[in-house]
Amino acid sequence: MTKRLYYDSSEIHEFDSVLEDVAPVSPEQPRPAVILRETAFYPTSGGQVHDTGWLTLGGSSRAEDRLRVAEVAEAEDGRVVHYLEAPLKVPLAGAAVHGSIDLERRRDHMQQHTGQHVLSAAFIELYQMPTVSFHMGEDYCSIDLATPSLTPERISGAEKRANQIVFENRPVRVRYVSRAEAEKLGLRKLPPAERNELRLIEIADFDLSACGGTHVSASGQIGSIILRESEKVRQGTRVEFVCGERAVRMARRDYSALTEAAALFSAQLWDVPEQIRKSLEESKLVRKQKEDALEQLAETDGCGCASGFAADGRPENRRAGVFGSRHRLRKIVCAKSDASGNAGHCPGGEHDGSSEPGFCADSRWRGRFDGRHGCAAQAGFVVGRRARRR
Ligand SMILES: [Zn+2]
Repeated sequence: MTKRLYYDSSEIHEFDSVLEDVAPVSPEQPRPAVILRETAFYPTSGGQVHDTGWLTLGGSSRAEDRLRVAEVAEAEDGRVVHYLEAPLKVPLAGAAVHGSIDLERRRDHMQQHTGQHVLSAAFIELYQMPTVSFHMGEDYCSIDLATPSLTPERISGAEKRANQIVFENRPVRVRYVSRAEAEKLGLRKLPPAERNELRLIEIADFDLSACGGTHVSASGQIGSIILRESEKVRQGTRVEFVCGERAVRMARRDYSALTEAAALFSAQLWDVPEQIRKSLEESKLVRKQKEDALEQLAETDGCGCASGFAADGRPENRRAGVFGSRHRLRKIVCAKSDASGNAGHCPGGEHDGSSEPGFCADSRWRGRFDGRHGCAAQAGFVVGRRARRR
């Protein structure tokens, strides 16, 4: 079993160790994997994602001796497996290594994870809603609460309480107890009965739970906790949240998007929803007026033959764009045609029995446009096309 340095302190991000084992590359495992005697790298577990970083062989400064740790996982036997990103040479067991963890990523995880403890405890304290699972993603985190629904008031209530705990900067301590002791302490969450010694994370006078993750040492380091979307899921209600620097990043992104929207409306940020509502209502009204106008035009001018041509039979451009497109005009005329295929509104000639509504056999148009003739949509199309050529 690998000795885990992060159990003692989440702040350890540089350490020395020895390569205990090197798993060879295979078709099933294309990346080399190494196991260290001890490690400060956190493996993906308990909802928290793994650390990344570097292993440097024997204090060397050569590039080929720097090995990128791309993923860290926990093996069933309790060993921590470090997967390397295509090294120039695969190291040998027994080599001395220096480990460096990507600090920014680690600190982000510490903020999100401790923020989750605070938030889960706030939902218990205020609404007796236990957390059944925790997920840490690249952009946001989420907890699933054992409740069928969650009102916006309760979401903002939990957010307010959680941030109070952050602002009070309460100490976050780690301690180890036996399972029997833990059972008497009334933990928020007790893990499955497979370990005799439990690692407890205590947020002073607020929360006590068993956890193997990396946490900040005082709640103020979480920075802030912002709750975002919530949705119903199979096991209850999922609440998305972000803490610390992520919260700042997301707030900045939201602000930029809102500022851009507000500038489009020449409005204040807080007026954007009202402006959008108004715009949607206006565009709905305009669409309806356009529909009505097109209907009326089709009624008045028939299928469009007459309206599409001047008295001398040449295309009349001013009407060409009225219907928007030949498809639109065809739709209107077809809607007015009877089921037998007759374009009942064609004023220009006889119908040729074409299965396509809108065609007619009026000899005035025959051969005039590319050997084709037609009324309604066909005429509208030709007129439009000619107009574009000019
Ligand atoms: Zn934890």
